[in-house]
Amino acid sequence: MADTSLMSIPGQIDPVPVARDITPRDDGRIDLIGLPKERIRELFAEAGLDAKQAKLRAKQVFHWLYHRGVTEFEAMTDIAKTMRPWLTERFVIGRPEVVEAQHSTDGTRKWLLKTADGHEFEMVFIPDADRGTLCVSSQVGCTLNCRFCHTGTMKLVRNLTPGEIVGQVMLARDALGEWPKGSMAGLEELEDSAEYTSDGRLLTNIVMMGMGEPLYNFDNVKGALKLVMDGDGLALSKRRITLSTSGVVPMMDRCGEEIGVNLAVSLHAVTKEIRDEIVPLNKKYGIEELLAACAAYPGSSNARRITFEYVMLRDKNDTDEHARELVRLIKRYKLPAKVNLIPFNPWPGAGYECSTPERVKRFSDIVFEGGISAPVRTPRGRDIDAACGQLKTAAEKKSRAQLDREAAEAVEVASA
Ligand code: SAH
Ligand code: SF4
Repeated sequence: MADTSLMSIPGQIDPVPVARDITPRDDGRIDLIGLPKERIRELFAEAGLDAKQAKLRAKQVFHWLYHRGVTEFEAMTDIAKTMRPWLTERFVIGRPEVVEAQHSTDGTRKWLLKTADGHEFEMVFIPDADRGTLCVSSQVGCTLNCRFCHTGTMKLVRNLTPGEIVGQVMLARDALGEWPKGSMAGLEELEDSAEYTSDGRLLTNIVMMGMGEPLYNFDNVKGALKLVMDGDGLALSKRRITLSTSGVVPMMDRCGEEIGVNLAVSLHAVTKEIRDEIVPLNKKYGIEELLAACAAYPGSSNARRITFEYVMLRDKNDTDEHARELVRLIKRYKLPAKVNLIPFNPWPGAGYECSTPERVKRFSDIVFEGGISAPVRTPRGRDIDAACGQLKTAAEKKSRAQLDREAAEAVEVASA
């Protein structure tokens, strides 16, 4: 079973230890969600099926779980009726529990979710005219403490398991009603017919831009994304998946080699002084090292450019000179790049303000004039705290209030 205890934050910039692959359950049954076919086969064999049966059943179950999205073994119609209770006794088809679902006036949806052992995290769905993007979390909280990010202020951190990560995508498909319909029998013929719609029309893209630093939870993120990309799984193309990192340089190469998704890098500043302040990880992996790793990122090309995210902070990183330096840096490293300017999304006590719209426009123009695309990301779901950097669960807010009360009480006691 997985180690379910909360992990303490092991220093500002060290990775959180990786939790094991299985999502913990109190009742002792094993949650299959998050496990690859091979692991399911092993578990079936350990539970007593002979080798041939284990292989066949794993193949069938895998397809039902990830491609069809069923949540009960009873619905697996090509598995013998007697076999289904056997599965139900030993295994579960998990989903993160939905604590709260919110709908923004602009159509953005945010779900507050809970792991089986009680930790809360969030995911966000952003519908656009031509796409629907799910913003997925990789950790509960984040150890990296970027100064402008609310998630970074959360005290408790735990890596999400592969099941909790892929479970977000599955839950979104449940909520949007996007699982392929139709029976398994004669699947090949059905795939082309109207009865079987495997192409989800609402959820088309995934960004690993929710809570947490995905490259500090590499194995679990990789395991989850493999299931998302598997043609017999959720079957979403790697070209429609983007992983955002604050700059965990040693893991970037593996991300490209082993996962192969698009890369977004949270650059946010062009000088050491400013980046050290707002993205403390910069003290460990500096701008030059980061850009060199981007230049070496496997699979990047003009057709698949690296996205540089740049949060617009008033009087901090938003001058004309900063914009020009950004262009120079990208050119010096010959990066196939685009820049995404993110207006800062405020939260109580953040200590920063968003640049003025005129400043953002000017910054964008300078980068454009340098030959690099630099659109401004429209903030979405601000009214439900769903915008970039605003994710922080209510439970944490409460426990923070609790901590503040306790701190105040401690002061009172000390001064009595
Ligand atoms: N940990 C990863 C991915 C999650 S954050 C990373 O840092 O890249 C997704 C993006 O939102 C990052 O570029 C992050 O820097 C940005 N962001 C964080 N807080 C923000 C805020 N308050 N306003 C705007 N963008 C923010
Ligand atoms: Fe963590 Fe990303 Fe927020 Fe930084 S911006 S604290 S890396 S989630």
